[in-house]
Amino acid sequence: MLVKGVVFYQESDLPSEGKFLLEDFRLAVNNAIRAGLQARVTSRNALSRLAYKDFREQHPRMYAQHLVSAFEVACGNLKNHRKRSRKCVTVRIPFVKRLMMKAENQAYKLDRRSGIIDLPIRAGCHVELRLIVSQYHRKYLDDMALSLGSLTVLPDRVIVTFRKDAPKPFVPESALSLDTNERSLDGVFVEGDVVKAVKAEFPDIAIIQQRHHDRRRRLQKKKTNDRRTSRNLCRREGTREHRRIDYRLHQVADSVLKFAEERKSAIVLEDLKGIKSKRSKELNRRLSMWPRRKLHQIIEYKAQWKGIPVVKVDPRNSSRTCPICGRMQYSRMGTEFACECGWHLDRHINASINLLQTAISKGMAGGLRFNPGAFQHDAMMTLYAPSRGARSEPNGTSGIVGVT
Ligand SMILES: [Zn+2]
Repeated sequence: MLVKGVVFYQESDLPSEGKFLLEDFRLAVNNAIRAGLQARVTSRNALSRLAYKDFREQHPRMYAQHLVSAFEVACGNLKNHRKRSRKCVTVRIPFVKRLMMKAENQAYKLDRRSGIIDLPIRAGCHVELRLIVSQYHRKYLDDMALSLGSLTVLPDRVIVTFRKDAPKPFVPESALSLDTNERSLDGVFVEGDVVKAVKAEFPDIAIIQQRHHDRRRRLQKKKTNDRRTSRNLCRREGTREHRRIDYRLHQVADSVLKFAEERKSAIVLEDLKGIKSKRSKELNRRLSMWPRRKLHQIIEYKAQWKGIPVVKVDPRNSSRTCPICGRMQYSRMGTEFACECGWHLDRHINASINLLQTAISKGMAGGLRFNPGAFQHDAMMTLYAPSRGARSEPNGTSGIVGVT
């Protein structure tokens, strides 16, 4: 089952009954967290057995389904807390600060034509939330293959999740193999006997990371005497950085997927799991794996949603091997990979050829065949270039959950 959250804004402010509900819900979640911590319980059922009766007394008028869902949210928090406290000793006791509430799909009604949510608060009291519906939202509301999942209400917006069964991936007629680098995806596109280089560039992501890093450093220096302010400001910087980068990653992923969908390509990516570098702290930060992993996550997720096959391959030695004769190169190389047998190619593209060969040799790319010797050195296809990315700055409304 695939799940996608879609952000909606409301035509008017949340009605006051709704605001009270958010406050009650937060209180219930925090109470449940406390009860769970005391009893060392993290499963929802255990928590329910333990605390439901008291809860009913403390929140006598709250809609029962919401109370159950508060347990659910508390459980998520407790589980995270347990995971974190296993890793390190000093962890903050979990506490939900922001106003929110979550309703399971039986606990609210959404009229998919008009975009009006009917949210029960307690017996005899419902609120109506009128959503602003754009064309982007219509795509989800009108698609009856999608069923409704949970609803999250926040003071300024709501998130509706849509669910569907994962479509069966198509049988690939071509392949798109991509090597993921700090500033670009470089790779090859193979269709029949044609092998061409492809590129999707995102140089601004590294620049944004650097800029925000510098800013955080400056803030920390300036506010050394006020740790609370420093922490808050740094957090704000972090959120901004994530939003700006996320926006760009989605655009890159979308263009890659559009290309793959039109040409019925399987996508081959390196498996970034387990890669740990033993470099200096500074270099590590600069080459942070985070945006790359995130990019893979987005590509994989969106591909699943669209039924595009994605193959992940162990990248070991992919940048050192000659795809023609199989020799391994141990000396340092520049931007070009050159082999004794006469083969030479851009280092990153060479790596993507090796990824594709691994995928094919393991039978992971359907019945595709591929001859690296047929590589066309003079042709380059651009999947994404930042100039095409329209605005250089995202505005506030281009959701966090996905720009499609
Ligand atoms: Zn060679």
